[in-house]
Amino acid sequence: MTMANERLQEVVHSLKSTKIRMTPQRHAILEFLYDSMSHPTADDIYKALEGKFPNMSVATVYNNLRVFKEVGIVRELSYGDSSSRFDCVTSDHYHVVCSDCGKIVDFHYPGLDEVESLAEHVTGFQINTHRMEIYGKCPDCAPISRH
Ligand SMILES: [Zn+2]
Ligand SMILES: [Zn+2]
Repeated sequence: MTMANERLQEVVHSLKSTKIRMTPQRHAILEFLYDSMSHPTADDIYKALEGKFPNMSVATVYNNLRVFKEVGIVRELSYGDSSSRFDCVTSDHYHVVCSDCGKIVDFHYPGLDEVESLAEHVTGFQINTHRMEIYGKCPDCAPISRH
């Protein structure tokens, strides 16, 4: 069993303690998220699964993602006007984003907790979370030349 599969089983198991009913569609959406690790949009997921579930709409996919988000197994990364990307939560991590093709790759780095406490101290906000993204060109868009 792959790592992605193990995580998926864990999540499916943890959902049993919630009100959420596991339907074949929900299972397929989670499976896609864990397998691809590509931070897809609801539309990407819809396109990948429409062959398997002809009655499913983008709205259905989106509603299911909302449900997953509420119980904390999926995170939504919104980007202004363009559609949100969805990330299956494994642990806290940052993202490296390709400014050409939009690919998002996970980047593990120690959590910048001191930024949060400083922000709280300076602004008086009650800080919940922070999001950091690093932009550049991915290897497909700008192959690094090796001499
Ligand atoms: Zn790229
Ligand atoms: Zn991620």
